[in-house]
Amino acid sequence: MYFDYAATTPLHPKALEAMMPFLTDNFANPSSMYSPARAARKAIDEARQAVAEVLGATPAEVFFTSSGTEADNWAIKGVLKKSDHIITSEAEHPAVLQTIRYMEKLGHPVTYLPVDGEGFVCPKSVQEAIRPDTALVSIMLANNEVGTIQPLAAIGEIVRESGAIFHTDAVQAVGHIPVDVNELKVDMLTISAHKFGGPKGIAAQYIRKGIAVQPLLHGGAQEKGRRASTENVPAIVGMAAALKAAIEEMPTELPRISALRDKLTNEILATIPYTHLNGPRENRLPGNINISFKYIEGESVLLHLDMLGCQASTGSACSSGSLEPSHVLTAMGVSHELANGAIRFSLGRGTTEDDIDKLMGILTTSVTRLRELSPLYDDFLKGRGD
Ligand code: PLP
Repeated sequence: MYFDYAATTPLHPKALEAMMPFLTDNFANPSSMYSPARAARKAIDEARQAVAEVLGATPAEVFFTSSGTEADNWAIKGVLKKSDHIITSEAEHPAVLQTIRYMEKLGHPVTYLPVDGEGFVCPKSVQEAIRPDTALVSIMLANNEVGTIQPLAAIGEIVRESGAIFHTDAVQAVGHIPVDVNELKVDMLTISAHKFGGPKGIAAQYIRKGIAVQPLLHGGAQEKGRRASTENVPAIVGMAAALKAAIEEMPTELPRISALRDKLTNEILATIPYTHLNGPRENRLPGNINISFKYIEGESVLLHLDMLGCQASTGSACSSGSLEPSHVLTAMGVSHELANGAIRFSLGRGTTEDDIDKLMGILTTSVTRLRELSPLYDDFLKGRGD
């Protein structure tokens, strides 16, 4: 039972089908001159067109990269000039946060905006942080740990007026909720295929026409000289097919998955005592649930769940394994104790109501057993006189 769709998703069958010819017969380099190469080039052009259409962009504004991490790095490193000021939030994914910390070490002043108790950035705080030397604002569209969907259009309006460049990491949002670069008023937007049923190791960057971004990779003339490397044709084609499928399925999948999310959230909160929902009820990703189980460690619950065939996560896959409490929950003001007991269940295309019912049974048993062994829980019961 897979409850870790925010970490990665299984390949959509339509993506696999679209990729197969380019994994087998047509292995040509799209920059070559013969007919299989031209077919590969055509497939890339069509994929670019498809991705652009979904985002409300033009094909000339879409560039393929090898990952969301690369695209985030490119957006940030590619637009800054010496000592330009950057604004970001404390709850960004490490692909943005660590890149900005690196730029800070190189001499860029940075404002890290706080988030509120539900993970929202206040547009007014963006307004107040903007300085004459602010060149870049990077705020994610949807949070990977707690699912908070930011009021991006309002922030975009403010950034546009200031003349700074507005980048958003939309890796968790695209393919799950409608995303349009013009509505959001963003200049750069990052997506990653493996979060919406595409293959791993392929992503795209939207760059609004007229925005000058220096290349991260220098070399050949691929991607109009802005991102050198022989194109990963099967992955590019697979990403576009997965995205098209996700958009086609969204009218039924978005309400279905949101209903499963609400069912699981409500059942956990109602039947397992001392639990706390992290993140908002409204403006939350359809597949995201993040719950803290008081008096126990999230890692212990995960190990227990894994033994019983359930896969979930304590936060982002990138930071799990570290003993530090999640920087997102900490930024939201969640206590260390609650942050250590947090688990993210993320639902997706394959999640069924039956999975939710089975998970509830397993989770209740796991939490009860672990609390029986927990000295913290014991102290709590003694304090209550039980
Ligand atoms: N940004 C967010 C919000 C993510 O959730 C992830 C993946 O976990 C990334 C960026 C990195 O994307 P990729 O795995 O393609 O490098």
